[in-house]
Amino acid sequence: MLRTKNLTFEYIRRDEEGNVEGITTAVDDVNVSVNRGEFIAILGHNGSGKSTLAKHFNALLYPTEGTVTVDDMDTKDAAHLWDIRREAGMIFQNPDNQIIGQIVEEDVGFGPENMGIPTEEIWARVDESLQTVNMTEYRKSSPNRLSGGQKQRVSIAGVLAMHPKCIIMDEPTAMLDPRGRAEVIRAARALNEVEGITIILITHYMEEVIHADRVFVMDKGKIVMQGKPKEIFSRVEELQDLRLAVPQVTLLAHELRKRGVALPEGILTREELVECLRR
Ligand code: ADP
Ligand code: MG
Repeated sequence: MLRTKNLTFEYIRRDEEGNVEGITTAVDDVNVSVNRGEFIAILGHNGSGKSTLAKHFNALLYPTEGTVTVDDMDTKDAAHLWDIRREAGMIFQNPDNQIIGQIVEEDVGFGPENMGIPTEEIWARVDESLQTVNMTEYRKSSPNRLSGGQKQRVSIAGVLAMHPKCIIMDEPTAMLDPRGRAEVIRAARALNEVEGITIILITHYMEEVIHADRVFVMDKGKIVMQGKPKEIFSRVEELQDLRLAVPQVTLLAHELRKRGVALPEGILTREELVECLRR
């Protein structure tokens, strides 16, 4: 559904006269593809190029070199711009910047309304979207009164109401407390498992990626690791070299293994560790 071919993106800084002062290669020759219905997590420390890559997936940015296609539509092709934006919705870090309605249901209905969907259909979509993110009981509330996790779920419902095939979430839990984070991740998994929506989750919380189908790890604009969570988390030392914190349980298992305890690499959950230790 999404594919990048030799994607490179440069931010060009200019002085007041318009002379080039500096160039940052934020994405550097990236080749990735995402299949329909996949749950992809993108990891990488600050400045590794995750947001820049993500913005190419719904044509918020265009390649300096290479190509990006969404359902075989080239994002550079202006004729497809709105089809692409409709297919791939985006959720950002700060829910306060994404909510515009005075009432939850109104906010969720905003996207489909702008798309020219008939009123009756809008309400049906609002109902269904709020249900999916488990926010129906707040439909008449003012977004101001909600917690961060609830606001973020309202933002997700708003994107969902546009019936996208893919939702890109750029650190949607970065500003949330642990409970809000859990709520948002649960909603993301439900969208993927129940609705079959392709999810791309950017995060630096390792615990949030263990359920992904595949993980991309970025460093200095490049994809440096790619694989199933188990494969990625078997490479503890490489992850640490990339300044990424591996899940505590994985780290504990890795340390025990180094000290001679017979354990497989890539243990991701406490249950798995307990199970392996019992054997
Ligand atoms: P991440 O999301 O992984 O933190 P970004 O994609 O935001 O990484 O940034 C990648 C690189 O591009 C960084 O070096 C960052 O400083 C630079 N960058 C990001 N946005 C801009 C911008 N608007 N103008 C110039 N440089 C930018
Ligand atoms: Mg970012």
